[in-house]
Amino acid sequence: MDNRIKLLDRLKIQLQGYLYIGNEKKEGWKKSAPVYMFKCPIHGYVKSIARGYNGRLECPFCVADLKNSPPLTIEFEK
Ligand SMILES: [Zn+2]
Repeated sequence: MDNRIKLLDRLKIQLQGYLYIGNEKKEGWKKSAPVYMFKCPIHGYVKSIARGYNGRLECPFCVADLKNSPPLTIEFEK
């Protein structure tokens, strides 16, 4: 995936933190949503729509990892 990103786009992502790449409409959506590309420190360049009222961008792979792995628990010695 990284190889298909143009140098100019990489620069924009570095400068802005994200890059608008177009609107996407999926089944069940009432209207299309803007899709952004940004760089996840773990997964590299990823695409995602902004979530929530403040337009948070979350790496879809990180979100999937969180759902699959059990929550962090620390056991105390008794
Ligand atoms: Zn990630």
